[in-house]
Amino acid sequence: MEISVVIPFLNEEPNLQPLCEELSAALDPTGKEYELVFVDDGSLDKGVEVLENLQAKIPQIRIVSLRRNFGQTAAMAAGLDFSSGEVVVTIDADRQNDPADIPAMVAKLEEGYDLVCGWRHKRQDAAIMRKLPSMIANRLIAKTTGVVLNDYGCTLKAMTKTIAKKITLYGEMHRFIPAVASAIGVKIAEVKVNHRARVAGESKYGISRTFRVILDLVTVKFLLKYSSRPIHFFGMPGLALTSVGGLGLSYLVLGKLFFGMSIADRPLLMLSILLLILGVQFILFGLIGEMQTRIYHESQDKPVYYVRETIGWSEEEMAKQNPINGFKL
Ligand code: UDP
Ligand code: MG
Repeated sequence: MEISVVIPFLNEEPNLQPLCEELSAALDPTGKEYELVFVDDGSLDKGVEVLENLQAKIPQIRIVSLRRNFGQTAAMAAGLDFSSGEVVVTIDADRQNDPADIPAMVAKLEEGYDLVCGWRHKRQDAAIMRKLPSMIANRLIAKTTGVVLNDYGCTLKAMTKTIAKKITLYGEMHRFIPAVASAIGVKIAEVKVNHRARVAGESKYGISRTFRVILDLVTVKFLLKYSSRPIHFFGMPGLALTSVGGLGLSYLVLGKLFFGMSIADRPLLMLSILLLILGVQFILFGLIGEMQTRIYHESQDKPVYYVRETIGWSEEEMAKQNPINGFKL
C-alpha cells in the first residue's frame, strides 16, 4: 500500500459521498495504490451506510466503526493504527480540506520530510470565534513548542508510516502532532492548502476548545522538555521556595535566640513555614516524577533517544545489539 488516507468523521452523512468522489478524483490519476480509511466516531446518522454503498464503486474505501464517540483525536489514532500505507494522510471529513492538495503534499514528503503540514492560508471560517483564537493559539504554540508553523489546526497532514505508527495521541492532541513528533526528531515542511467553507453538516466545536488547547499546550511543553528530567522542572521552584523560606525562618530563630525578638506574632513566620513546606513538596514531586520516568521508559523498553540511521553496522549486528524495537526510527 502506498498511500493511506485517514478520515475521522462524526455525523457527516451529507458530506461523505462528495468527499469520496473528490478523493478518487485526486488520487486515481497518481496511479498509486491507496486506501481510504474512514473512522466512524460514533455517528448517529447513516454515514456508514452511505460509505458501504459507495464501496462497490470505490473499492479503496475501508471503514472502522468506533463503539461510541471517542473524539476526533482518538478517531484519528484509530485510523493511524488501521492504516498500512507507506505514506499516511489525515484529512477532515467535512470537505473543508481539499483532497486535490493531497498529491502535492505526498510529493513534498517524498522530498525527504517526515511530516508535511497543511497551511490554510485563506481560512474560510468565522473571524472572531474561529480565526482569532486560532491565530493566538498558533503564535502561542510556535513560541512554546519551538516548532514554528503557521497553522497547527489544519487536519490535512501527510506523514511517513514510521511517524504514523510511533506517535501516541491522547486527549485532543491531534493539533500537536508536529510538536509530539518533534520529540522524536522530525523534518517538518508546511505547504499552503486550499480551505473551503463548510457546506453541509455542523461544526463539532465551540469556543471552549481554545481553553482545552491551552491546557494541552502545557502538557505538551512539559512532556517535550522535562519528561526525562522532571526533577529539573519541579526542583528549581522547589529550591527557590525552600531557600527563601529557610532564610526567613533562620532570621526569626536567630532573632529569637540572640536578641529576644518575639516571633509568634510575625506574619513572616507563617510565610516562611509555608514557603519551606511548599519547596520541600516541589522537590518531592520531582523525585516522584523521576521514579515515574524510569517506570515509563524501562517497563516499556522505551529508549531516551531515537535513531534516524546507523552507518557501519551490518543488519545482523544491529539486530543483536539493539533488541529494542523502539531504537530505530
Ligand atoms: N470529528 C470527529 N469526532 C468528533 C468531532 C469531530 O471525528 O468528536 C470530525 C468531524 O466529523 C470532522 C473533523 O473531525 O471531519 C473536524 O471537525 P469540525 O469540522 O467540526 O471542526 P472544525 O473544522 O469546525 O474545526
Ligand atoms: Mg471543519
